[in-house]
Amino acid sequence: MHKQYMPGWMTDDLVQFGDAVRRFSKEYLLPNDVKWRADKQASREAWLKAGELGIILPDVPDTYGGSGGTPAHAGVVFWELGYSGNTGLGLGLSSIVGHYLLKFGTEAQKLRWLPGIASGEIIAAIAMTEPGTGSDLQGVRTRAERRGDGYVINGAKTFISNGQLCDMVIVVAKTDPALGSKGISLFIVDTAAPGFERGQVLEKIGMEGQDTSEMFFDDCVVPADCLLGEQAGRGFYQLVEQLAFERAQIAIWAAGAMARAFDITVEYVKERKAFGKPLIDFQNTRFVLAGVKATVTAAKAFSDMVVQQWIDGTLDAATASMAKFWNTERQCEVTDQCLQLFGGYGYMKEYPIARLYADARVQKIYGGTNEIQRELVGRQL
Ligand SMILES: Cc1cc2nc3c(=O)[nH]c(=O)nc-3n(C[C@H](O)[C@H](O)[C@H](O)COP(=O)(O)OP(=O)(O)OC[C@H]3O[C@@H](n4cnc5c(N)ncnc54)[C@H](O)[C@@H]3O)c2cc1C
Repeated sequence: MHKQYMPGWMTDDLVQFGDAVRRFSKEYLLPNDVKWRADKQASREAWLKAGELGIILPDVPDTYGGSGGTPAHAGVVFWELGYSGNTGLGLGLSSIVGHYLLKFGTEAQKLRWLPGIASGEIIAAIAMTEPGTGSDLQGVRTRAERRGDGYVINGAKTFISNGQLCDMVIVVAKTDPALGSKGISLFIVDTAAPGFERGQVLEKIGMEGQDTSEMFFDDCVVPADCLLGEQAGRGFYQLVEQLAFERAQIAIWAAGAMARAFDITVEYVKERKAFGKPLIDFQNTRFVLAGVKATVTAAKAFSDMVVQQWIDGTLDAATASMAKFWNTERQCEVTDQCLQLFGGYGYMKEYPIARLYADARVQKIYGGTNEIQRELVGRQL
């Protein structure tokens, strides 16, 4: 196992908490990975088990059903989930939605949704992207019109994680198209609402256990208190405020996934022989892995810094964007270098390194593409 540097925020309790998440990964997530990929979704049982372990909303106060921890707990969970190599169980999305509710929801909205999300009984999704627009969120065409004492939503979303399993989804919609970014609002939609429909699970080149789907809103009627917060037109501000959290999460996850790629590769090159000796005895193997180890260590340090700033309340959007693009790009490089050391076996899906490689690719795309992250950092210069 890659020996980790312990950041200052890592207490004995957090080490134990991390060990519990690691056991859950090893004993439950890993053995189910292949099945969930074949099923194109994780099981509901997995969500309930994660809820029991308190890892869905680790940093949400216990008054709302969360585990009452700090951002350090969330940091430990995301790193461990990245390290698990399992991408079917989309806990990150429930965590993101939990944060939207905690930060902007009314008291009634928090009490209605957070306890169920924390326990895994309610699976959450967030629907921003549309077939016609992804990076440019101001271009969303989904419309929410005030009608009677509610809203009527019309539009289509795509690439939505937890799309099949979700019981609720936060939807980005225009309440006043004439107002540009000030005309965007977020709605908490119960997927039992009339006019809500799911498309098929989309076929992807990796993360096959994730039920990424299209969603359709056809005169979908929701009550007025489904508006996140109390005022329409706050959606763009709410998104910008929370996207840093999503990007931090992706960066931490990337650091965990890289560490796993390194560990399983070291194990493999000690066993596999060529020309009568283990692969580790070739200088090239050692040089490649020395470089990988340095990268894995740097990525972990970057993600630890992000967690520290998150704990201190000083994490700014540009730092989260930097960590997101830097760590995910390193993740793609590292999994590629590690896969190469497996030779042909690295290309076989039954080998975890192949899945780590394929799963890594989307990390540079979702949560805002890495080009958009560079834009955000560049604007601050
Ligand atoms: C597996 C998966 C899961 C996802 N889960 C979710 C989810 O749960 N919820 C959700 O809402 N979305 C989700 N997404 C969507 C994801 O966030 C978008 O795909 C992403 O934001 C990019 O949008 P796009 O696909 O429309 O690409 P586009 O915006 O069309 O971008 C195409 C290319 O143009 C580049 N580009 C665009 N604008 C600029 C610019 N200003 N400067 C430089 N380059 C630019 C982009 O970087 C990219 O390289 C998911 C996507 C995938 C693949």
